[in-house]
Amino acid sequence: MVDILIKNGRVWDGEEFYYSDILIDNGKIEEILPKINTDADFVYDASGKTVLPGLVDIHTHLRTLSSESIGVQAEMGCFPFGVTAAADTEGCAGNKYLSDLLMVKNVVFVTAGIRDNKPDFEYISQRLGDYGEKAVGIKVFYDSCSYKDWSMNLLEEICSFAHKKNLKVMVHSTNSPSPMEDIVSVLKKGDILTHAFHGGVNSGAKDGYDCIIKAKNRGITVDLGFEGINHTDFSVLGNAIEMDVLPDVIGTDITKYSVCTLGGRYGMTMVMSVAKKLGMSEKEVFKAVTSAPAASLGKDAKWGHIKEGRCADVTVLDYGNEGFNLIDCFGNNIKSDKGYKCVLTVADGRIIYR
Ligand SMILES: [Zn+2]
Repeated sequence: MVDILIKNGRVWDGEEFYYSDILIDNGKIEEILPKINTDADFVYDASGKTVLPGLVDIHTHLRTLSSESIGVQAEMGCFPFGVTAAADTEGCAGNKYLSDLLMVKNVVFVTAGIRDNKPDFEYISQRLGDYGEKAVGIKVFYDSCSYKDWSMNLLEEICSFAHKKNLKVMVHSTNSPSPMEDIVSVLKKGDILTHAFHGGVNSGAKDGYDCIIKAKNRGITVDLGFEGINHTDFSVLGNAIEMDVLPDVIGTDITKYSVCTLGGRYGMTMVMSVAKKLGMSEKEVFKAVTSAPAASLGKDAKWGHIKEGRCADVTVLDYGNEGFNLIDCFGNNIKSDKGYKCVLTVADGRIIYR
């Protein structure tokens, strides 16, 4: 008998929608066919629901990878919201052994440390070495709160160090000392601009989103980096979506703080619900949490797609009475009585959440 049969669902395979049954056995997606008639240990009727690849969260803070001061427990911050793979964006713990023990598949952006008003390349190199092939880039927390003397010179030095090593740069852009267009000008194709719709000091909204459009045209990945109620201005995001300036990827920026939003209901599904409520189409939302972040992280051969022969990371979402009512730090309110809810998460062919 095979392990899992998911029947009657609408499938989003990372690129397109179709109706199909999906057979999972030995940790792999065995068969995708309109009708599969076979016995399975576990049969799930996904009628009225959408079957997606395990979601990919490009912006997380996971305990044992990120600093202990803000990291969230990986499995609880991801699986109940359909996420099976995540990028940690504050990798400073330097413990690859612990990162390998996580059930959530993961890669790491190493924190750009500063010492004596210079990028601490020795520290950065050590952390990169600690994480080995798991380190995909360097995260710059380009925010005056994290370091009061940030400057474009420092940012440029870190970018050129990263680019020489073929690593990505992810720039946190809220409360930054430089206009967003200056930040964008030092980034390269493949780099990531996060919290792109923050609406605070030096926000891209001030120039009518020109710099965000420029970033997208140059192949820079624009991440929502939503972060519950702190790093997104709902009116800035709503206006951008209305003008069709969309985030390429939807990262939650889940931390031990944001995870508590609305009584612990904060996670990928809530951020997807907000993006849909503000006008992104379902296809745009689904792409931004599956194939797009997988491609951005250089993982599209493994993550973000439902295909025969691939590792069986599969999520089933329902769009129903999962309402939310959020207020951002500027006082904008967004609410809906509908939203996404994860009803099944399969990781490596194993039922992890339902
Ligand atoms: Zn973050």
